[in-house]
Order: sequence, then structure tokens, then C-alpha cells
Amino acid sequence: MRALTVIPRKADSAALAEVPEPAATQGDVLVRASTVGVCGTDREILAGKHGELPPGEARLILGHEAVGRVLSAPDGSNLHEGDWVVGIVRHPDPLPCDSCAVGEWDMCRNGRYTEHGIKGRHGFATERYRLQPDFALAIPPALGKLGVLVEPTSIVAKAWDQIERIGRRAHFGPQRVLVTGAGPIGLLAALLGVQRGLEVHVLDRTQDGPKPALVRDLGAAYHVGKVDDLCRESDIVLECTGAADVIFAAIYSARPNGIICLAGVSSGGAIAAVDVGAVNRELVMENNVVFGSVNANRRHYEQAVDALAKADRAWLERLITRRMRLDDWRDALAKHPGDVKTVFDFGA
Ligand code: BGC
Repeated sequence: MRALTVIPRKADSAALAEVPEPAATQGDVLVRASTVGVCGTDREILAGKHGELPPGEARLILGHEAVGRVLSAPDGSNLHEGDWVVGIVRHPDPLPCDSCAVGEWDMCRNGRYTEHGIKGRHGFATERYRLQPDFALAIPPALGKLGVLVEPTSIVAKAWDQIERIGRRAHFGPQRVLVTGAGPIGLLAALLGVQRGLEVHVLDRTQDGPKPALVRDLGAAYHVGKVDDLCRESDIVLECTGAADVIFAAIYSARPNGIICLAGVSSGGAIAAVDVGAVNRELVMENNVVFGSVNANRRHYEQAVDALAKADRAWLERLITRRMRLDDWRDALAKHPGDVKTVFDFGA
């Protein structure tokens, strides 16, 4: 069968390869691929900046945002042939650390976790793959192919979960949210903010393409420009760009008792002069919290499914701006103007 593969840490090594059927040792749930999303992390892996081979393998099968159909599953797994299923990306480290031991592998403390399609575990950009039953989530049939959005939504569900937990440190009555970046993560973060009844502002670089209308149709405000000019006084900031100049402006834009969640992964190398004393003063004098958030555990996947089930289906469809065949992988992986989310459609 065919798979989109890469040699991690080797730039431009992607290739469509013939690979063997997934070994039974990879999990008892056999899945036929339906839809696989492309994201910034995939592009980082393709650029040779991220990723790790599974033990004993020469190439890594890419792809971690995916929905498929169950071909077979063991009795007692609550999964049945034909079910729509999403694979949980991260698996706990083998030790396990105290976080992984309680199912909070998203908070792994020793870095020895594995991630499908990213770190030490094959991904989903292949015709068939296997999941371990505990890392497979059946989703409502009504979501179907839109289940490809469950994984990116799980990332923002975790961010919101953490924001709300931090908020409970004192009285917490947020009204205004700033989301920086209107990529898929920013848009889904905005969706979850609107679902919470909050006033949501989204800041991005572009006035063109589908993003402004996607934001406005959510009932949120769309801004182009600098954080400083437009989006001051937020109770919550979700920073989804990872861009150095945006990050500090986002930190400064929060109101007293503000919570700033950094959810964008930067590639590093952006050197900026920072007045550390002024940043410290801002955070201390205003009781602000800045924290990072990555990955998601099973609870967040379930929250993601609930959020997507409540959302307007037509709006979710509009997030998927290109549906590609695996044969056209080079074009799928290239960035086009107007792209929000590109997916591989396997036809199932
Ligand atoms: C994935 C996460 C993963 C992170 C770092 C993101 O793209 O959505 O599940 O933990 O990359 O590898």
C-alpha cells in the first residue's frame, strides 16, 4: 500500500512510498484512511526541523490529523466495522512519568512520549493503519470526514481547558478574547471562544482570502495590523502565530489578571531585544499568567468532538480549502494563497 513518508531531520526527503501492511503489533484496530490533514508541524518535519523515526524503520509515515473508518476491531473495544474513528496522536512514555501514568500524556515530563506521524510512531497518511483501542476515538457519524478537524480542535480544547483551570485561581469573569493568527488553530480557538459566549477578536496579517469572512461569520471581529493598535485590554489571549513580534505584543495586550496562552510553535532564531524588567513588572503588577500549551489528552479529544458537533457544519466545511489526492502530495504540501486547511482525501 502507499504512504507519504519522510526521513526525519533530513530536509526535502518526502516521498510517496510502497510500504507493508501495518504490523498487528501496532494495534488491534485496523483503520481505512478517509481524510488526513496537513499542518505546520508536518511542514517542520518536511523541512528537517522536527520528527523522529520509529525504532528499526528507515522512513516515517507522515500525518497526525486524521479520520478513518474501522475495518476491524477487537470485541469489547466499543469500536465496530464502519465506525468513523480518530487516532489520538500522543502515547505516554514507557516509564511512565507521573503525568503519563494518570493519562495526562500531553503534560509528559520526561520527553520520552511518542507521537503518530511525528515522533517515533508511524502516522496516518497511508491507505490503512492500526490504532491501539485506548488511543482510538469513535466520533459521531454526522461529523464524518469533518472528523479530520478533531485533532487540531483537541489542541485548542486543551488550551481552553488550561485557561479555565488557571482562571479559577481567583475570581474569573472574562469577557474579551484576543486570538492572534487566523490559521486553522486560531480559527478553531475563536470558535471555542464564541461557544463560551465571549467577545472574540482575531488578528491576522491578511485581508485577502477566506479568513476575514470565516471570522465574521462566527460572530467574532477580524483585525489586520498590530496587536498594540487594535486589540488592547483582553482578558484572555490565545497566541497562535509563534511569531516573535506578535508574542510580546500579545503579552502586553492583556488586562490585569489576564491569561496569555502561547499555542504557536516557533522555529527559533528570532532574536529580539526585550526589556526583561518591564515584562516582569507588567506580569507581576497585573497578576498576569503566560503559559505554553501543546498536545491533548483523551479528555480534550472528547471536548473537541463536542465542540465540533455543536458548530455550524457549513462553517467547518469552509475551513477545508483544498482536498487533494495522495498522488498530488507535492502540491498539497506547498502553501497556496487562500489556504486554511489542506487535506488528503483517500476516498473512503
Ligand atoms: C500536534 C501535537 C503535537 C505537536 C508537537 C502538533 O502539530 O498537533 O499533537 O504534540 O505538534 O509535536
